Amino acid sequence: MIDTLAKALRESRQTVVLTGAGVSTESGIPDFRSDAGMWGEVDPMDVASAEGYASDTARFYRFWSQKFGVIATAAPGPTHRFLADLEAAKGLSCLVTQNIDGLHQKAGSKNVVEAHGSFRTATCLSCGEVEEIATVFERSGGERAPQCRKCGGRRLKPGVVLFGEMLPAEFALGEKAADEAEVLVAMGSSLGVYPVAGLVARAIRAGARTFIVNRDGTPFDDEVEGVVHGELKDIVGALRQRLELKPSRERTGA
Ligand code: NAD
Repeated sequence: MIDTLAKALRESRQTVVLTGAGVSTESGIPDFRSDAGMWGEVDPMDVASAEGYASDTARFYRFWSQKFGVIATAAPGPTHRFLADLEAAKGLSCLVTQNIDGLHQKAGSKNVVEAHGSFRTATCLSCGEVEEIATVFERSGGERAPQCRKCGGRRLKPGVVLFGEMLPAEFALGEKAADEAEVLVAMGSSLGVYPVAGLVARAIRAGARTFIVNRDGTPFDDEVEGVVHGELKDIVGALRQRLELKPSRERTGA
């Protein structure tokens, strides 16, 4: 199946890649639903829903301030680098990520749609002040809901999409790209969170060739043309070889 996927990627003129938390586990950021995932520790509705944020903002900050250090200092892994190199060599219509860690951009990917927002900034829900998230977490001290530096309120919300919230307007670009794709590949996602998982169904409906690359099974495994199960670093290594993709350091001579 790797050969078929490599050939599809080589020949496609409109490729969409959809990524999930699995592409960042090799960077040390746990995913949600694997055995070692974050949802073993907490109830997602407490710390990742709009309701959980509103009902106990201090609890929200206590949980995420422990994770933030890991996210802020993480380096791109093999899959981030592969996708950046694939885009540089062949172009991608769009890289839709559910991740909020910014690692695709750190690896050099350009055409990224952050379907669930990012941990770059926080916005005050009272006065609209926007602030770098790092200083917000510093002020929270890991214990309490931080105060807005402008109005003093305690309703600073990180720019991530919580369960129960709308997706950002830029998600429409991902939907359009899925409708027009020749090839769509989902990588490192359990494909259980909507509406992002629905991009796979959209691409199938529109007649694209669709593939899934993931360690565990997904609800779409029987619907797509091809599934490659395994560790992402091995799979992207094999794809890199077949596509003769040079690592960006070699390409730029840096
Ligand atoms: P998920 O946890 O539901 O699924 C991750 C999938 O990746 C699993 O099916 C697992 O089998 C696979 N996987 C993990 N490591 C792998 C590896 N090394 N090789 C191959 N496969 C591997 O994640 P999801 O589908 O993205 O779930 C959705 C939510 O998780 C999103 O809303 C996203 O915002 C959030 N999330 C993001 C981050 C991040 O930004 N890095 C981290 C955790 C959760």
